[in-house]
Amino acid sequence: MAQFELRRTDAGGRIGELYVPRSDVVVETPALMPVVNPNVQTISPARMAEEFGAEILITNGYIIHSTEGLRERALAEGLHELLEFPGAIATDSGSFQLSEYGEISVSTEEILAFQREIGSDVATPVDVPTPPDVPHERAREELETTEERLAVAGTVDTGEMLLNAPVQGSTHPDLREAAARHAYGAGFDIFPIGAVVPLMNEYRYADVVEVVAAAKRGLGVDAPVHLFGAGHPMMFALAVAMGCDLFDSAAYALYARDDRYLTVDGTRHLEELAYLPCSCPVCTDHTADELRALSDDRREEALAAHNLHVSFEEIRRIKGAIREGTLLELLETRARSHPTMLDGYRTLLDHAGAAERSDPVSKGTFFYLSGESARRPEVRRHHGRLERLSVPERLFLTEGGPSSTDAYDASWRVLPPFGPFPRALSRTYPLAAEVPDRTDRAALEAAVEGITRLVESNPESEISLGHRGWPAGVLAGLPDGVETVDLTADR
Ligand SMILES: [Zn+2]
Repeated sequence: MAQFELRRTDAGGRIGELYVPRSDVVVETPALMPVVNPNVQTISPARMAEEFGAEILITNGYIIHSTEGLRERALAEGLHELLEFPGAIATDSGSFQLSEYGEISVSTEEILAFQREIGSDVATPVDVPTPPDVPHERAREELETTEERLAVAGTVDTGEMLLNAPVQGSTHPDLREAAARHAYGAGFDIFPIGAVVPLMNEYRYADVVEVVAAAKRGLGVDAPVHLFGAGHPMMFALAVAMGCDLFDSAAYALYARDDRYLTVDGTRHLEELAYLPCSCPVCTDHTADELRALSDDRREEALAAHNLHVSFEEIRRIKGAIREGTLLELLETRARSHPTMLDGYRTLLDHAGAAERSDPVSKGTFFYLSGESARRPEVRRHHGRLERLSVPERLFLTEGGPSSTDAYDASWRVLPPFGPFPRALSRTYPLAAEVPDRTDRAALEAAVEGITRLVESNPESEISLGHRGWPAGVLAGLPDGVETVDLTADR
């Protein structure tokens, strides 16, 4: 198991340090690994390290193995010399070629030995990438093949080289979870979640979240997770919030080839851009017209550089958000970039229980930004806590000020989406939240859920609610016996 230490967490996201022994470097995660095609380098690896701060990159060991000339040079000089890259280098094994072309001509032992010989820092056995939506039977059989190859990989002497254990299982959560548990138990180092590219290509972010959530259930918290093929900056915040640590981007170069310009909220075609909405060196040095006027090669390189800049910038922004405890606020903004991203975020919130475990108990200020905020792990945690608070015999829950009558033993505040809490907790996280004056139904319903938890845990107490004009449909969700007063009604 790799040396991977978690420094900070927020929701399911984490900042970690992955030690890569062969190059003796520490990679801070979440990390973006640019994909380098050994035959075509749109941006040189040396430039990736110097200009972009790349600490790790990934290249295709199978292409190097099967390309005469490259293979000899890699064996003679080593991968780091060949690519002229000072950081860590991970190698893929050709599983992608396998999935594209049906077969490759190399065994697990051979490809691992080769990756070790050329000086790879992180090697990958040949797994079977099972596409989404295949029958359970087929996914299970292919997973068995992957697990057999992982078993072989476990017997190969790989020295200090770290080993990937790809987690497959198609769109079957039970298989993904079992595959992850098996790989984690076998002591591999890094866990790439494979064959999700077809889902991302079809914008099926909700399915991506289900697949990752299932895999995460089978892995320990100390397992570094690589979301294989996730190279679009639009989805980094979502992927990090799910607990993914490593990303690989071939997108920066592939998109550039087709004149596509990446942004954190989607892809634009250079043709449709009147202005460049970015301040990276490429976009400050050129206007959109100037970019269009460049020769094909120079335009491709310029777009690739821009695409990498926005990708690394988003990774830095995400790390900053984790440190500040605002990852979910960032994600909530990103989730507005496309309806399918919103589906992804909503699915992530279905798994808020899992995020609750790694979410810090205290951070900055909770911002209520949309109906989705009502389902955040902090709201869940408060509702859980309500079952353990001691409640007086006659309690008034109110959106108004403290009650001055003797009719109650105490009056607690009610704040949607959290629901009730003793006034003494008003300044604690997350209850000192910033919420809009014009709240929404999701927040009110969450507050009702909180009140319900309190009432059901204290059947002996008499509990009343003073609210500011909550709709009858929301109030109907309260348990029987809770008396309500509309504080906005005319007296
Ligand atoms: Zn730019």
